[in-house]
Amino acid sequence: MARVRVIGAGPAGTAAAIAAVSEGAAVDLFEKSRFPRHKVCGEFLSPGALGLLETLGVDWRALQPATIRGLRLCFPRRESHGRLPETAFGLSRYALDAALLQRAIGAGATLIRQPGEAAGGPAVIATGRHSAATKGRRLFAFKAHFQGPPSDTMELFFERDGAYVGVNAIEAGRTNVCGLAGEDVLSAHGFEIDSYLHSLPRVKDRLSACKREWNWIRTGPLVFESRLKYSTDFSKYYAGDSLSFIDPFTGSGILSALCTGILAGKAAARGNSGEEYYRTCNKLLAQPKAVAAMFRLSIECGAAAYLERFIPNRILFRWSRPQLPLSF
Ligand SMILES: Cc1cc2nc3c(=O)[nH]c(=O)nc-3n(C[C@H](O)[C@H](O)[C@H](O)COP(=O)(O)OP(=O)(O)OC[C@H]3O[C@@H](n4cnc5c(N)ncnc54)[C@H](O)[C@@H]3O)c2cc1C
Repeated sequence: MARVRVIGAGPAGTAAAIAAVSEGAAVDLFEKSRFPRHKVCGEFLSPGALGLLETLGVDWRALQPATIRGLRLCFPRRESHGRLPETAFGLSRYALDAALLQRAIGAGATLIRQPGEAAGGPAVIATGRHSAATKGRRLFAFKAHFQGPPSDTMELFFERDGAYVGVNAIEAGRTNVCGLAGEDVLSAHGFEIDSYLHSLPRVKDRLSACKREWNWIRTGPLVFESRLKYSTDFSKYYAGDSLSFIDPFTGSGILSALCTGILAGKAAARGNSGEEYYRTCNKLLAQPKAVAAMFRLSIECGAAAYLERFIPNRILFRWSRPQLPLSF
């Protein structure tokens, strides 16, 4: 029986662990943090993610995610409303990651609550995004949950400087508010997120009827990489954000993490060469990454509202997320 090490128990690592166990491998799943835990994330689940959770044997219905049908995009001088091409969902990472971990353990993976390393034998590396400091302007992200009137629309407020704030429903009638902004802008507000959001009139207006439930959590700096992280040691399979971190406004990171996690877990358990695995991932992720990079550039130079006029939301939405393989 193959023994697979999986490092990191986020969506990618737990998906890899479940997939590897289902291939008959013995799995050691390493996680350095305490679970369950809140995580900076918009908690928007792309259409397709629930199908993958079902494939993995996670009873997502019991988690009662919020349903998201509409999309509101607000640019500095224009805004558009529309319907998503398919229904999406909102679910806290607190609930999602705990359910995935529970399922991985239930399936037979052994959880080792300590930092892990790839050492001899096949290993899936699912340790999340690399947060090495970048040169130039650095971006930081923040998140909190709010109580307030529920809405089934994903709302994204883009600012001229490339910052944005997302507002969407999650389970239990709560609202997730998550955004990112440049270090220079945030430090002008003493890294006080409420003060920063009050300086954005449309966001301030949107949140006026909402009440924050707990203190903001923050993370950063964020680094968007244009290439996938490869290992020339083809018994190491990078998955999820550690393979490729896509701009979060796409709301497709969890979907990509589940998808690449499943592919990595299977490849590691079968002893397939990583080369083929990376080729498949490249096919899945090249387009969404290119579209996200183009959109970010257009936000930063103020052209996003025009781009959105010529390319309908639903097309941008489709192009910015991986098209899943027909079967896993
Ligand atoms: C601001 C922001 C908003 C986002 N919004 C959305 C959204 O709305 N929808 C969406 O789909 N995606 C969103 N994303 C992206 C999403 O959060 C990620 O794509 C997703 O978390 C990737 O999952 P992962 O398993 O690869 O990594 P993670 O979720 O980061 O999990 C990695 C795990 O590995 C553990 N770990 C790290 N190193 C070690 C080690 N050496 N040993 C053991 N354990 C280790 C960590 O503790 C962690 O639990 C957002 C991201 C950001 C930053």
